[in-house]
Amino acid sequence: MKILSIDDSSIVRKIIRGAVETLGYELLEACDGIEGFLVLEKEYKNIGLILLDWNMPGMNGYEFLKKAKANNEYKKIPVMMVTTETEEGNIVKSIQAGAENYMIKPFTIEEMMKKILECLGNGC
Ligand SMILES: [Mg+2]
Repeated sequence: MKILSIDDSSIVRKIIRGAVETLGYELLEACDGIEGFLVLEKEYKNIGLILLDWNMPGMNGYEFLKKAKANNEYKKIPVMMVTTETEEGNIVKSIQAGAENYMIKPFTIEEMMKKILECLGNGC
């Protein structure tokens, strides 16, 4: 199973890579929503979870989420928002738009591992 990280920060993607690979999953990366859709198009059948940043240039996380949840295939993939504390008000908006979970930045590899397992275990 593969996990897709969509985030414009390479540092955040690096921490996520640490968590995902320690758990034995493969990480796919995209730096914004547009690239995220290109990866989804090719890999959606193999992707078990999307970790989605909110603030990104080009297509942001919220736009990506709404577009993904409007697609019959992509909407089956659970989405965890990865967001900064100052964006907490956006969490409600994300859940309403179909996100299953969220993670507040900054976080450690261990915290992300725990959250990923929680998400996969719940089948969320
Ligand atoms: Mg960002």
